[in-house]
Amino acid sequence: MIIILKQNVPDEQVRALRETMAGLRLTVQDIQGESTRMLGLAGDTSMLSEDSVLRHECVERVMKVSEPYKLAGRRFHPQDSAYEIAGRRIGGGAFTVMAGPCSVETEEQVLSIARDVQHAGADFLRGGAFKPRSSPYSFQGLGLDGLELLKIAREKTGLPIVTEIMSQEYAEIFKNDVDIIQIGARNMQNFPLLTEVGRLGKPVLLKRGPSCTIDEMLMAADYILMGADSPVILCERGIRTFETATRNTLDLSAIPVLKKKSHLPVIVDPSHGTGYWDLVYPMALAAVAAGADGLMIEVHNSPDKALCDGQQSITPFLFDRLMHKVEKLRAALA
Ligand code: PEP
Ligand code: MN
Repeated sequence: MIIILKQNVPDEQVRALRETMAGLRLTVQDIQGESTRMLGLAGDTSMLSEDSVLRHECVERVMKVSEPYKLAGRRFHPQDSAYEIAGRRIGGGAFTVMAGPCSVETEEQVLSIARDVQHAGADFLRGGAFKPRSSPYSFQGLGLDGLELLKIAREKTGLPIVTEIMSQEYAEIFKNDVDIIQIGARNMQNFPLLTEVGRLGKPVLLKRGPSCTIDEMLMAADYILMGADSPVILCERGIRTFETATRNTLDLSAIPVLKKKSHLPVIVDPSHGTGYWDLVYPMALAAVAAGADGLMIEVHNSPDKALCDGQQSITPFLFDRLMHKVEKLRAALA
């Protein structure tokens, strides 16, 4: 529900209205209108009648919001969200690249890749310490030791780090140690994890679940936003379809659809989206052309020896070429 306030109403009246709504366990958000003041209500408004809201003197009228998501939606927040995270801009016309290995393996590996992607112009170092592997027999990541290696790479290069959290038990550690907390595709609908991470007030990269619709993704974003209004970045990383020629089907139409429905920045991961290193370059460029705010790319210095996702990892050399091409393409599109 959106409440449109009368012009020049006293602050005490608005405060009383906010308190009533908070008492009903509803989240109240200010909405910046052109000339009107509005409040957005998120939560279960089914028990709230329009009439009871209109009784408040400061209320001009109310509008029901039919979308199942609220805080991530444009109705509550018409203008694009843009953030500055660890000195890097995301959204609002910036183009932000997160690159690095699928998983952190050794100090030499992560440091070497970090230096290479930094040299090519990446803004963030990505790397998995906790890995969500389909098979319990596959390499599961170095866990907290991997996080320590990422911190060493950050210290030595200055690149901020993005890494995936898989369990609430590490929330405080991630809050202190990580610049952007990644929620992986498999955990997009792990609601207790979303809620816990949302409480931290840290930037969150939310990857789309392989079988999730766009509305489901935006509802997942609402779980995070309901906490401490954290900066949330959405990531399209391919969905499961009948097609087997690629690992997933990269849904590039998700970019303009998400931009229409939501104010949150959208980045694209063509590595998991395709599953093949030679498809990463063309699909990354396609994502730029479709209006993405950035890319997440898996880069490995020895893809054939990688402990995870080597087949979809590009070399630092190809990453460097891609970065040049992205720059040229963005200039041509401007
Ligand atoms: C990853 O980014 O390393 C990853 C596991 O991605 P996804 O959750 O999209 O599969
Ligand atoms: Mn991977």
